[in-house]
Amino acid sequence: MNKDLPGVELHTHLEGSITPKRLIALADRHGQPGLPANCLNKEGTAYVFDGFQGFLDLFRKVTLLLKTPADFHELALDLGKTLYDDGVGYAEISLSYGVMLMRNLDPLAIQQALSDAAHQVHETHGVRMRWLPDAVRQLGVDQGWHAFEAAARAGRSLGVVGFGLGGDETTGPARNFARLFADVKAEGLGVSIHAGEAPARGPAAAESVRQAVEDCGAQRIGHGLGAVADPRVMALLKARNIFVELCPGSNLRTGALESLADHPLQDFLAAKIPCGLNPDDRSLFGLDRKGELERARQELDLREDQIMMMDEWAREATFSFLGEG
Ligand SMILES: [Zn+2]
Repeated sequence: MNKDLPGVELHTHLEGSITPKRLIALADRHGQPGLPANCLNKEGTAYVFDGFQGFLDLFRKVTLLLKTPADFHELALDLGKTLYDDGVGYAEISLSYGVMLMRNLDPLAIQQALSDAAHQVHETHGVRMRWLPDAVRQLGVDQGWHAFEAAARAGRSLGVVGFGLGGDETTGPARNFARLFADVKAEGLGVSIHAGEAPARGPAAAESVRQAVEDCGAQRIGHGLGAVADPRVMALLKARNIFVELCPGSNLRTGALESLADHPLQDFLAAKIPCGLNPDDRSLFGLDRKGELERARQELDLREDQIMMMDEWAREATFSFLGEG
């Protein structure tokens, strides 16, 4: 563990880390100079979008500019530097193989470029980057299988340590992907699933978390807010020692929560359910680890001993080995 970079980040998306500057450069490179104006503020310094559907639309537009392994390589170098500046020494980074396959990109060539970038970042900054390819709910189960097959081929030698499920929860229950995730686990990869992101869905949000854990064997849940409404689901998370990747700033940006005060961080901590704070989509949301911790200290009464506990939980919940190079 690099003592100068104590942060362990387990929920961050590569595509969501495209800086506005990189977006503009990629748009020029790929002959789409008009695209950034549809994504950024007038000054070209920050992203703009409205609500969760607006966010998904922005994510789709941004990923249109990621076309070649070289694009992804540059993006990973940018993110490596950002992680270093933010005190993060180890990160497991999601990237959507589902979207790549939909756009006829070759995930293996891209993963090779990311692996090369990760080696470069480790040498330059001492930051270790590992990868969590994911499937997209709204693209369906068949597409999910194709994404997993590519992830299994890439394997741990290219830094792939797990496989995930992201996208729009209302479009496909996790249980549809149960057989797929049984194979993910048989392959020796970790399972992290976005579930319970929109607490306004009530019992459906809690059921979404339950399915991710019980039907798909997730060891980590992205967001998980919906669990709080159902004591049985909270008990399940505790009993199975599931790590919940909380992303409060993201929940505000997408409108999943109306105010930070509504975030159930202290409920998870009181229940001793392993959890940690993550920026989710750093650039698209304009968030970082230090800012997330500071806001939680000020508005969610997060204490230093709780931060130390969360750091310990995060280290235990990695799908890699922190001692490896
Ligand atoms: Zn996410």
